[in-house]
Amino acid sequence: MHLRENEPLAPFTTLGVGGPARWFVEAVSEEEIVEAAEWARGRGVNLFVLGGGSNLVIADAGFDGLVLQIALRGVFTAGQDADGRQTYQVAAGEDWDKFVARSVVHHCAGIECLAGIPGTVGGTPVQNVGAYGQEVASVIACVRAYDREAGAFVEMSAEECGFSYRTSRFNTTDRERFIVTRVDYRLRPGGAPTLRYADVERAIEAEHLDRAPTLAEVGGVVRRIRRSKGMLLVAGDPDCCSAGSFFKNPILTEERFEEIASSGNSVPPRFPAGKGAASEGKVKIPAAWLIEQAGFKKGYALGAAGISSRHTLALVNRGGAKTAEVLALAEKIRAAVEERFGIRLEMEPVLVGF
Ligand SMILES: Cc1cc2nc3c(=O)[nH]c(=O)nc-3n(C[C@H](O)[C@H](O)[C@H](O)COP(=O)(O)OP(=O)(O)OC[C@H]3O[C@@H](n4cnc5c(N)ncnc54)[C@H](O)[C@@H]3O)c2cc1C
Repeated sequence: MHLRENEPLAPFTTLGVGGPARWFVEAVSEEEIVEAAEWARGRGVNLFVLGGGSNLVIADAGFDGLVLQIALRGVFTAGQDADGRQTYQVAAGEDWDKFVARSVVHHCAGIECLAGIPGTVGGTPVQNVGAYGQEVASVIACVRAYDREAGAFVEMSAEECGFSYRTSRFNTTDRERFIVTRVDYRLRPGGAPTLRYADVERAIEAEHLDRAPTLAEVGGVVRRIRRSKGMLLVAGDPDCCSAGSFFKNPILTEERFEEIASSGNSVPPRFPAGKGAASEGKVKIPAAWLIEQAGFKKGYALGAAGISSRHTLALVNRGGAKTAEVLALAEKIRAAVEERFGIRLEMEPVLVGF
């Protein structure tokens, strides 16, 4: 295990803010993960697991502990189940978007709408990554992880992961307990692409195909939509210096939705709230709509932090921002939305070192 000291963390994140890690180690094997976890435990040092850094806000003071970067590699094509679905066993340090591209080339359906999402495979079960009508919860067969409490590796089914909208046991009840080393996804060979979002359907219609779209075409359309919103990592694009969506889309009861819809001049778009007990009978509305109604526009700036010029939900580092500036902007937005609608927006990125 090669320990580094006082390693700057901002370059490991897409938002690019925050201070250093007191200790830093990159693990390329399960053995190194155990070694790092034991090292931290033996010294009573806090441990933080880093994937691709695309969903993080690091404190300006950094992290006073050990940051363990997961760099395990490998994609193994396992067999098909009785239902004909193909299982891929993917190491946690693999790039998610590259795996999506590979599944599309293999004509395996199930994650084509999740194209263009940055980060690692190991990060996907943590917040049940989702976009454009798909969530990893619906294709995950098994998550292999090191259980820091038990000091042993465990394998969990999707049911055992407790997936719901942007949540799982990994970011709620068992936060920081598990270090994911491998995720098994079950995809459908020859399956049809998912067309559940109006944006995606419209863009496909505009292609004037005289046949059903392929997985590659749907994945390509999703990437183009993401790019137009600054939600695809493109070198040199200032709008993608972000942690993606900064706030979760609120899930409301029908009554609450009706109150909001009748309280002003415009009605918020509504989407199904997704699977899981907490979502039953409820609707999801865009946090971006609430933020705009509360008076914030795309391109709004507060010091070196700002709102993306293409997407109200992404807070960006406009160059040299401090974490404190980003959080001051986030708080200003939350306070305005709360005052106008009585809804306290929940932040999506993980705060590290606070
Ligand atoms: C431009 C942009 C667009 C985005 N679009 C979307 C989107 O459409 N949908 C969506 O859901 N998300 C989106 N995101 C957020 C982000 O890409 C995902 O949450 C991603 O899965 C995070 O993975 P990561 O490897 O970067 O994790 P990190 O940011 O490094 O970590 C996030 C959390 O996961 C934990 N973690 C990471 N790896 C492991 C592991 N191996 N074991 C245990 N815990 C781990 C960390 O400890 C931390 O708590 C977007 C982000 C950006 C910057």
